[in-house]
Amino acid sequence: MGGSVAGLLTAHVLADHAERVTVLERDHYEDAPGPRAGVPQSRHTHVLLTSGMNALDELLPGLLTELAEAGAPRLAVPGDLGVWQAGQWISRRHPSAPIMTPSRPLLEHRVRRRVLAGPRIDVRTGTEATGLLGRPGRVTGVVVRQRGAAHHTRQDLTADLVVDATGRTGRTPQWLAGLGGRSPAEEVVDTGRAYATCVFHADDPAGDLRGFYIVPDAGQPFGAIVLPAEGDRWLVTLSGPRDEAPPTDPEGFTGFADRLPHPAVHKWLSTARPVTRPVGYRHTANRRRRYDRLGRDHTGLLVVGDALCALNPVYGQGLSVAALSAVALKRELAGGRVPPVHALQRAVLRSSRPAWDVATGADSPMPGAAGNAVRGGPVARLLDRYLARVRDRVPGDPVVCTANRDVLFLLAPPRTLLTSPRVLRRALLTTAVPTPRDLPTP
Ligand SMILES: Cc1cc2nc3c(=O)[nH]c(=O)nc-3n(C[C@H](O)[C@H](O)[C@H](O)COP(=O)(O)OP(=O)(O)OC[C@H]3O[C@@H](n4cnc5c(N)ncnc54)[C@H](O)[C@@H]3O)c2cc1C
Repeated sequence: MGGSVAGLLTAHVLADHAERVTVLERDHYEDAPGPRAGVPQSRHTHVLLTSGMNALDELLPGLLTELAEAGAPRLAVPGDLGVWQAGQWISRRHPSAPIMTPSRPLLEHRVRRRVLAGPRIDVRTGTEATGLLGRPGRVTGVVVRQRGAAHHTRQDLTADLVVDATGRTGRTPQWLAGLGGRSPAEEVVDTGRAYATCVFHADDPAGDLRGFYIVPDAGQPFGAIVLPAEGDRWLVTLSGPRDEAPPTDPEGFTGFADRLPHPAVHKWLSTARPVTRPVGYRHTANRRRRYDRLGRDHTGLLVVGDALCALNPVYGQGLSVAALSAVALKRELAGGRVPPVHALQRAVLRSSRPAWDVATGADSPMPGAAGNAVRGGPVARLLDRYLARVRDRVPGDPVVCTANRDVLFLLAPPRTLLTSPRVLRRALLTTAVPTPRDLPTP
């Protein structure tokens, strides 16, 4: 259920172990890359982190080259970007790692083309899942209806394994309850961060920069992501706290950038030409559903992607997590093993844990953060104070910057910031080295 990035990558992995995989997607796909209704975030800026690039390359060798040939930019971070964090620009001379910035529609289109060419995969578009078949603890299939059909066209499809990849708004918890079974516990950290994105044509920013990332934090609530995409376009995403959403009219959008902690983005935007209207987005809560805790004998259902673990998009992790989860599934199934579904679910959840820890760890101290998984108490406060010291040292210290970047890019687990003696020593025993206030030079 769900033929977007997580669903397609999961189908690709399962096809090596199943007679047939059928992808059910409620939208109709267009032939060319383009935004679609079922993926409202497709108009927003998307970053593919280094870990996600590596995972996609393992799953679909050659895909990154295809994306590059279609114009997807590849950037070095922090070498190519103006990254503002903890009140300073990060030095661009620190060691860099690559990211790619295809538009979300281009990435999905290329993944889809590759995956659906697989011999044991078919797709049914315009087909909406409306419920599950089975009994408490055992899912045996999906109820679907054809969208746009004149008459109600309920159809029951049975399957050995049902995969839920219906994204952030998936209704599987209610459907499980409808079967008389347990719904998963839900963990939430919600800062209420509000997003808006607009596409621009513009000259490159000054100083060889290829974009900006203004990181919001507890003391500075406004954020910006400015990145190139294929087609000589710039995708600009601005974000603010719950009650200070970026406007969705072009003038208001550009004016909002004046609230950022450094004038560079506003100055650059004032010379840029919008080619779309800004679009807003508000469902940015971190939300994780604990299907892994439904019990060992709960079977027939695997939940992946945002339907399992949706993350605050400001950290740019969801696509990479979808790819890392598919790799985890592939490893779990390697060598012809058929582990119980419960073990697969645990492996998929485990693969998203570092991203969850990064996003909820950074969001918990934000003003107005709400939800049952907000980190609190004396130990959390101590940890937050230590991590604030780490963040303060990122701009001027190459060792701390690299360790922090590897955590954010899901190349190293968050605990390395606590266990690396070099990072510990620098965070606790040195003072932060200030970097110049002018735009960083290469
Ligand atoms: C504003 C925003 C910005 C983001 N920026 C980034 C970023 O920079 N980097 C990054 O890595 N990630 C980012 N993400 C996250 C990323 O978009 C998702 O993690 C990624 O798309 C994977 O999601 P998915 O496949 O699980 O679900 P989705 O992409 O949401 O897809 C769900 C699919 O299921 C289909 N569907 C839903 N219900 C049904 C049903 N009942 N029956 C059949 N089909 C159904 C939908 O039509 C859709 O195709 C961002 C998200 C948002 C909201």
